[in-house]
Amino acid sequence: MLDVARIKQDFPIFQNNPNLVYLDSAATTQKPRQVINAVREFYENYCSNVHRGIYRLSERATEEFMGAREKVARFIGAEENEIVFTRNATESLNLLAYTLSRSLSPGDEILLTVMEHHSNIVPWQLVSGGRFRIRYVDIDGHGLLDMEDLKSKLNRRTKVVSVTHVSNVLGTINDLQEISKMAHENGSVFIVDGAQGVPHMPVDVSRIDCDFMAFSGHKMLGPNGSGVLYGKYEMLRSLPPFLGGGEMIQTVSTEQSTFLDPPLRFEAGTPDVEAAIGLGAAVDYLERIGMANVREHERGLMRYVLEREGDLGLASLVSYGPRDVERRGGVYTFNLGEIPPLDSGKEIALGKAIHPHDVASSLDRHNVAVRSGHHCAMPLIHRLGLVAASRASFYIYNDRSDVDALFEAIERAMEVYG
Ligand code: PMP
Repeated sequence: MLDVARIKQDFPIFQNNPNLVYLDSAATTQKPRQVINAVREFYENYCSNVHRGIYRLSERATEEFMGAREKVARFIGAEENEIVFTRNATESLNLLAYTLSRSLSPGDEILLTVMEHHSNIVPWQLVSGGRFRIRYVDIDGHGLLDMEDLKSKLNRRTKVVSVTHVSNVLGTINDLQEISKMAHENGSVFIVDGAQGVPHMPVDVSRIDCDFMAFSGHKMLGPNGSGVLYGKYEMLRSLPPFLGGGEMIQTVSTEQSTFLDPPLRFEAGTPDVEAAIGLGAAVDYLERIGMANVREHERGLMRYVLEREGDLGLASLVSYGPRDVERRGGVYTFNLGEIPPLDSGKEIALGKAIHPHDVASSLDRHNVAVRSGHHCAMPLIHRLGLVAASRASFYIYNDRSDVDALFEAIERAMEVYG
C-alpha cells in the first residue's frame, strides 16, 4: 500500500491547490519537490553546457547528465549506451520513423494498431508519403488487441511492428512479450511506445525483447523536455543520424561529416541538460516507492473505480476498455449518455448526452481535473464509434477519495445537464 498522504506532501502543487483532485496524469504528471530541486540546483549551482567544458562547472554538469542516463538505463533494464535523450516520446518515435524508413523499399509494410496515439501514427505517415503501406491491428469487443488480426497482418513485407504498451484511452495493457515473439519470428523490427507503460509498472526491455522503446519523462514525475529512446545497441548503431549539428559528429569537412557512435549520434545540439537531470531524480523517486507498488496501487484504484461505477448504476454512464484490471492500467475513459459517431453527421442530442467538454468543465467546478476530447487517438475514438470522451487517469498521489470525488462530480454533472 502506498502512503498517498505522505507522497502528496512531496508535491508543492497540492499544497498550493489544497482542493485539487488531479486526474490527468496520462497527459502529464505533477512533479515532486525532489525533481524541482534537482532542476533548480542545476541552474543555481552548476549551469553550463555538457561534453565540452574543461572547467569544473561543466565537468559537474556532464557528470550529472551522464549519471541520469545511467539511472534511466538501470530503471528499464538497459545499458547506458542504449539510452538516447530526446525531448519526448513523440520525438523518439519521429527519430525512429525517419531513420528506419531510409532502409525501407516501396511496398514495405509498417504494422501499427488502431489504439495508437497520434505520435505513433503521424511520423510513419510523414515518412511514408504513400510509398509504404501502413496497416492497423484491430481491437476486440473488450478493448483488447485482436491477436488473430495481428497474426493475419504480419507477412514478409512487414518490416516494422510498432505498438503501444498501454492505451492512453482504453487503459489496455498489451502483451508485449507475445507481440515481440511474433514480430521477430516474422523478421520485423519491434518498437514499443512506452509512454503509458514505463511510468506505471516495472518494465524490463530485455525481458520484453523489444528493439526500441520510446517514452516521456514528464509523464513519470520528470520535467518537460525529458524524453527517452531506448534501442538495442546494435540496432542503434545500424541507424543513420536523425538531426545534424554539434555534439553528434566525429569530423566535419566542407564536403562531408562522420558521426559519433550512439547515443551521442542522436543527440545533436545542446541537450535539455536540466530535464535529463530532473528525470534522473524522478527515477530515484519512483525506485524508492518501487514500480511493483506503483502498479499494485493503480490496479487497486482501478478495481475501486469499476466497483463504484457498478454501484452507481447510472444507465447513461458508459465507459470503455477491458473490465479485467489485470489487463488494464489506471485510465478510465467514459461518456455520459449517447455520443454519436464522428462521421454520422449527427449532433449530440439535447437531453440524450452531455458533451465531454461540458463534462470536463462541470467536473472542474468541483476541482476535479480530467481531460476530454479525442485524446490524440482519433482512429481509436472513431473505431469506438465516438466523437470524443472524458478521461480520468490516476497516479501515485491519487487515492480512493479522488475516485469518490470523481463520481460525486459526475453525479452533479448529471443533475445539471442530464
Ligand atoms: N504515446 C502515448 C500512448 C501517449 O499517451 C502520449 C502522450 N499522451 C504520447 C505517446 C506522446 O507523448 P509526448 O506528448 O510526451 O511526446
